[in-house]
Amino acid sequence: MYIVSACLLGKNCKYSGGNNRDDRVIRFSETHRVIPVCPETEGGLKAPREPAERVGDRVLSRSGEDWTAYFKRGAETCWERAQKEAEQAGEPIEGAILKARSPSCGSGKIYDGSFTGNITDGNGCFAEILISCGIPVKTEEDR
Ligand code: SF4
Repeated sequence: MYIVSACLLGKNCKYSGGNNRDDRVIRFSETHRVIPVCPETEGGLKAPREPAERVGDRVLSRSGEDWTAYFKRGAETCWERAQKEAEQAGEPIEGAILKARSPSCGSGKIYDGSFTGNITDGNGCFAEILISCGIPVKTEEDR
């Protein structure tokens, strides 16, 4: 089974209220069992919402609110739910396809906290948990 960012599958959970539908990811989901997750809405944030970025160990909204607790809770809840679903299905979690550069889902590169579109090395809060548990994480942009 594969964990997939729900916004890549067309769910309107993105901060703007829209989604990041990706045809390659959709096609992948038609031939593989997937567990859609959105750590930010699972953590209690609504869509639409302000954009947020990681700033060191914290996650701040563009207006400067500290949303770290939402992001941490959402990441942990999604990981627990994914493990439970995989266990119930009797299948291992083989990997994850998560939205590039997101403060939750990004892997390897994320926005740098300046809200200017600049990126830096790092992982989103959810991707960080998966990577630390040995789950291979890719973005929708990886070939
Ligand atoms: S938290 Fe992940 S799944 Fe949810 S909107 Fe952001 S990138 Fe998409």
